[in-house]
Amino acid sequence: MRMIFLGPPGAGKGTQAGIISEKLNIIHVSTGEILRSAIKNETELGKQAKSYIDKGELVPDRLVVDIIKDRLSQSDAESGYILDGFPRNLEQAKVLDDILASMSQKIDHAINVDVPDNELVVRLLERARKEGRTDDNETVIKNRLKVYNESTLPLINYYKEKNILIDIDGVGDIDEITNSILSSIRK
Ligand code: AMP
Repeated sequence: MRMIFLGPPGAGKGTQAGIISEKLNIIHVSTGEILRSAIKNETELGKQAKSYIDKGELVPDRLVVDIIKDRLSQSDAESGYILDGFPRNLEQAKVLDDILASMSQKIDHAINVDVPDNELVVRLLERARKEGRTDDNETVIKNRLKVYNESTLPLINYYKEKNILIDIDGVGDIDEITNSILSSIRK
């Protein structure tokens, strides 16, 4: 099973991707997590990505494309994966199509976790208090939502046209949302 999790920042897609990947026993690839860990470890990738992340901008495509190419070529990706936070724009989606074609693979489902904007800001500010992410302050949050709406939202149509889009209501109980994702991919 190969899946993409789409949805605005704060929709809970990372949480759901984590739970579902464990249930299905496939890897969870979060480009955001990989970048945050690179920053923490002060690697070259981290140094290049930090200023973009701190402003709520997307990091340059070539950086995340390299991360994804590298991760998907590892042996534990053979049985499937969930991509969480990639692709983030149409260019990345097209590169992903090329990578998949070269591996004779395809994505089974693109899960769109949907949450209204006003609820997202509340959730993200709460996460800022709990986790202390440097990109969870109000100015940066607003920019991340703007970047999402401009760059990432078009992917919903992109995957709808490929007939693999599943819309999931991301408001409510975590377990219920997990169950609705699981039942929709089993249909
Ligand atoms: P996330 O944890 O998915 O919300 O990502 C946190 C930040 O990492 C984003 O605001 C971007 O700056 C960066 N990032 C994560 N994934 C990507 C991607 N696919 N393309 C560009 N930037 C990304």
